[in-house]
Amino acid sequence: MSDREYDVIVVGSGTCGATLARELTRRNKKVLILEQGQDSVLRESFGSMAAITKEYSVGDDLKAATAATVGGSTSLYFGVCKLPTAETYASLGIDLSAEVAEAKRELPIAELPDQFLSPQSLVLRKSAAELGYKFKKNLMLVDQSKCASGGYSYDARWKAKTYVEEAIDFGATLITQATVTRVLVEGGRAIGVEYKHKQGFMRSKLCTARGKRIVLSAGALVTPKLLIDCGIKNIGDRGFFCKPAYMVCGTVPGLGATDTFVGNQDIELGKGFSLGDGAMSSLLFKLVMLANLRWRYLFSFSNILSMGILIYDSMGGVVGKDGSYRKQLPPAELQKLQEAEQIAVKILENAGAKNIFRTKLMAGIPGGTIRIKEHVDENMQTDIGNLYVCDHSLMSDVMITPTFTLICLAKRLAKHLTASLQVPPARAPRRLEVVARMRSR
Ligand SMILES: Cc1cc2nc3c(=O)[nH]c(=O)nc-3n(C[C@H](O)[C@H](O)[C@H](O)COP(=O)(O)OP(=O)(O)OC[C@H]3O[C@@H](n4cnc5c(N)ncnc54)[C@H](O)[C@@H]3O)c2cc1C
Repeated sequence: MSDREYDVIVVGSGTCGATLARELTRRNKKVLILEQGQDSVLRESFGSMAAITKEYSVGDDLKAATAATVGGSTSLYFGVCKLPTAETYASLGIDLSAEVAEAKRELPIAELPDQFLSPQSLVLRKSAAELGYKFKKNLMLVDQSKCASGGYSYDARWKAKTYVEEAIDFGATLITQATVTRVLVEGGRAIGVEYKHKQGFMRSKLCTARGKRIVLSAGALVTPKLLIDCGIKNIGDRGFFCKPAYMVCGTVPGLGATDTFVGNQDIELGKGFSLGDGAMSSLLFKLVMLANLRWRYLFSFSNILSMGILIYDSMGGVVGKDGSYRKQLPPAELQKLQEAEQIAVKILENAGAKNIFRTKLMAGIPGGTIRIKEHVDENMQTDIGNLYVCDHSLMSDVMITPTFTLICLAKRLAKHLTASLQVPPARAPRRLEVVARMRSR
């Protein structure tokens, strides 16, 4: 056990962990961030993406991806920002409007102007409009000042790593390649964590760290297991949602596709699915084709028109005692996917696309596993004193994109933790106060 006691130990440096660390260090709290990944230089390249991507099975032939690196999944995410709504607050059981206002002031959030739209996005928008479907632009977490002449830039997407860097500037300690394996509990209170610290290629050392507050922000694919191991009951008792999605693509000779931001526009018909613009960067396209063994299209980026299909699945499936996820889509949801695919194919064909093909079904990060006011209280504290949860496991609204709301949840928790760590000013004993007042008369 290291001698140093931190005010807060944050497990994981993704969206929530990074935001918490930044907010807490700004309030002069002593913070330790433990991150299983490395502090990799983030680049949109084959090597860089492959090195940080971690896949988890969430069902037969259904996988979800996250990133193990400083900054977590925002190193891979698309930056689409669907803001929380009244339904989000209702499903979470808490109001985040103060934090939403704060986060909106701090983050680069805007729709992409038309000059940012790639040729393939414009073709798709026109084709959809001809068939009576209207694409609506999404807000994006993109700093447009970093996009040279309206072009695409991976660096322009907001990433949690910037918040980790700010936290370090304000005094946070970051230990990378530190995988937390256990929360240390004494007398019903969390007092620290145990972690494996990788040393060189093959070796790792078992270490412990002590903190007054412990926050699990290891992401929805890890945090439930850490809680189950602490003896917390009913984790994932209503299953989970995971927004299964795939792409439908076709070739349009002479399309002239260019690199662009994924998900910048979509069609919402209120039927339980979303039809997204599948335009992306050429590197991401190659990765998708490789993952789908579509060798034939590996170098066809400039001629490919594509749409993404995503369903808002209901809660279901099972979260195992080992924290694993398992779900099979019911027939009604498979039916929704088919309905969405038929519309996508019509739009693609109307745009002149041939050789239509689809990619494998992929899941998003599971949500709905841990609920506020059931597994944790309104301050995100578990039944174990000083042990908190703040990450995607708490996401309760399938209809929005999670990152922005998670930033708000972390901001809220940081305020609570700061207040709870405040030492009340020492008061002079009452009798002495009276004597002091009498003397001063
Ligand atoms: C391909 C893709 C596209 C996405 N697109 C969007 C989008 O457009 N818009 C949007 O809002 N969201 C999007 N998301 C989702 C978004 O990225 C996540 O919801 C969000 O980042 C989750 O934040 P988190 O804090 O829960 O966990 P993460 O950001 O995943 O961070 C968890 C961190 O904990 C670390 N960790 C895990 N286990 C341990 C351990 N035992 N010990 C120490 N550290 C550990 C991990 O390495 C990681 O750094 C996308 C995700 C992916 C994968």
